[in-house]
Amino acid sequence: MLPARGMSVRKMRVCGIHTSWSTIGDGEFFCPACGGDRNYRRRTGRRRLAVLGVPLLPRGLAGPVVECAACHSHFGTDALDHPTTGRFSAMLRDAVHTVALAVLASGGTSSRSVREIAVHTVRAAGLDDCTEDQLTSLIEALAADTGRYVTDAAPYGAALAIELHEALEPLAPHLAPAGRESILLQGARIALADGPYTQAEREVLTTVGAALQLGEDDTIRLMETARTPF
Ligand SMILES: [Zn+2]
Repeated sequence: MLPARGMSVRKMRVCGIHTSWSTIGDGEFFCPACGGDRNYRRRTGRRRLAVLGVPLLPRGLAGPVVECAACHSHFGTDALDHPTTGRFSAMLRDAVHTVALAVLASGGTSSRSVREIAVHTVRAAGLDDCTEDQLTSLIEALAADTGRYVTDAAPYGAALAIELHEALEPLAPHLAPAGRESILLQGARIALADGPYTQAEREVLTTVGAALQLGEDDTIRLMETARTPF
């Protein structure tokens, strides 16, 4: 009589490595296997040589691994370095908002077309409830904070440079070059809405380019591109 199918499978597993996993943490991550924001469990395992399914001899530790709660795929802990889709959109929104504020702070908020394009840009980035008043009061708060006014010769202060680096640097490695260039171009178009770049606006946009890991030449080229009517 032929052995039943189940029996032959069991035979193959007489001897093997059995890993028992224990969870040491959890959270949300972007799963590269099933492609989306998922819950994960961070787990370490104990490997044992198992005979007939009974774990016997210790064979060291496994992991730590990150296990997707949806598809149960295992990844190295570096899978947690990638932002979730939700976190990524928030970073992108904040980046555009900060760039818009920095350009406004350097060029002033007196021009209506500048204020309008700034609001439009920030809304398009996902902050739907952004208004001119909101942007203007943030600039005023910033000016009060740094003890400078937007009408000063060099209104753009160190505080703003730090803000730009904090908002853009963590985002840059996760953006394709076109995405990084697009953020710079959006800032450049706000700056150009009331005429050619001022020295302060150039400085801000150069800082934006550097924080986005764009080359100096690329930044200059993009600033010129933005200047051509489209
Ligand atoms: Zn998954």
